Amino acid sequence: MGNVKDTPKAYLEPTNEEEIVNIVQKALQENRKIRVVGSGHSWSPIVPSGDILLSLDQWQGIVSIDEANHVAEIKAGTKIWRLGELLHEKGWGMENFGDINRQSLAGAMSTGTHGSGIGLGTLSTQAVGFTIVTGKGEIVECSAQENPALFKAAQVSMGLLGIITKIKIRIIPAQVLKAVKSTQNLDDTLAHLDTHLQNRHFEFYWFPCTKYTYHKTMNVTDEPAKPLGWKHKFQDIFIENYLLWVICRLVKVFPSLAKRVSNFSGKVLKDGLFINYNHRLLSQPRLVTFTDWEFAFPVEKFTKVVKAMEAVMEQQNLKEHFPLVCRFVKGDDIPLSPAYGQDTAYISFHTYARRKNPEYLQHLEQVVKSFGGRPHWGKFHTYTTQELQALYPQWDVFMDMREKNDPQQIFVNDYLQKLLGIQQTVTVN
Ligand SMILES: Cc1cc2nc3c(=O)[nH]c(=O)nc-3n(C[C@H](O)[C@H](O)[C@H](O)COP(=O)(O)OP(=O)(O)OC[C@H]3O[C@@H](n4cnc5c(N)ncnc54)[C@H](O)[C@@H]3O)c2cc1C
Repeated sequence: MGNVKDTPKAYLEPTNEEEIVNIVQKALQENRKIRVVGSGHSWSPIVPSGDILLSLDQWQGIVSIDEANHVAEIKAGTKIWRLGELLHEKGWGMENFGDINRQSLAGAMSTGTHGSGIGLGTLSTQAVGFTIVTGKGEIVECSAQENPALFKAAQVSMGLLGIITKIKIRIIPAQVLKAVKSTQNLDDTLAHLDTHLQNRHFEFYWFPCTKYTYHKTMNVTDEPAKPLGWKHKFQDIFIENYLLWVICRLVKVFPSLAKRVSNFSGKVLKDGLFINYNHRLLSQPRLVTFTDWEFAFPVEKFTKVVKAMEAVMEQQNLKEHFPLVCRFVKGDDIPLSPAYGQDTAYISFHTYARRKNPEYLQHLEQVVKSFGGRPHWGKFHTYTTQELQALYPQWDVFMDMREKNDPQQIFVNDYLQKLLGIQQTVTVN
């Protein structure tokens, strides 16, 4: 998104695991730092190393498929869009996808990237095993059976436990979904939330400062996939990208129009019905650059949080038009997952990247903080170490695992050192 810059001393693109091990062992001897970049789609500066930056772009593809157990082993650098198509060619698919599919598989899992569907976990929960080159320069395999504590911690680990080289994921037979999109009213959306959540996938946009919501529900169907024709392109590309861009430019020049524009946007999205494979429907292109703040809560608090946001927009006369996105995810038992221990509602709020609207962002973040919201690791937030620690019951479990697997801190960058309160090790040369 262009807001994070790194000036590494070395940029490496290894093509096999042996090379990755050699890079880590050499870095250990020379007392250097390494960070891995996936697709660089995180807004928070969790990637920059200032020293060695490693990309797994030359390490992509399916290693093997275990059809009997519905498990595929994937090279960690594989881009999700590519993985969707590669699995599809063999009659398989992933359980769920995020809003976009440009991330690498390891990068997406490392921050707890999620889609929507209260019966489905984050992408990290699709992992059943990892191969990791740790900060000791060793290749370690982990799963629920083998090194289970490392496996749990690695599911959301921001590159702090080592370089993930291969990921075993659960796969499902290729699945056709029927997507229904419709404009609704916020009060009705909240009143019937339990019913909406019964859909396999349910998410909605909320146009700030208005009562407009735009629902997307998707369920498995026996109907055959239909080509995604002009209507789909019109909606996904023209309205949600080009028209949004025009609107963003307009509001940047005339900020006072934000509320009226939000009203207009709420009306302009069209109802639609589309039938196709899940990897083609669940993610869409995002061509407008925006800033993204996203927080996770127990789903039971969702209505109260939305009402509190609505109240603060009204009381403070906040002006924004970029839709908030509300999504729902099954809880998990991953130490640093924002969905840890609770079926979770996520609310993300955005502004156009070129239009700063700090008042709006600060007020909404205050609301989510007051409800104990956990921030998305790859997005903007202003949480302190103490605030984060209080939100994660297994914080120390993760930190112990980090210390054991990277005692020399070669995978720690300045941002994560400060954010997570990692004590610097003293190196004696
Ligand atoms: C337009 C847009 C839409 C988005 N939509 C969603 C969404 O729908 N849902 C959601 O939850 N998030 C979403 N995000 C956030 C995004 O999914 C996360 O920030 C994700 O981590 C980015 O993946 P990446 O491959 O770009 O990883 P990067 O941002 O490059 O890296 C993320 C982290 O993973 C680590 N990492 C990468 N590869 C490895 C590896 N092989 N081994 C160990 N560590 C590794 C990096 O060091 C870093 O700590 C969106 C972001 C954008 C820009």
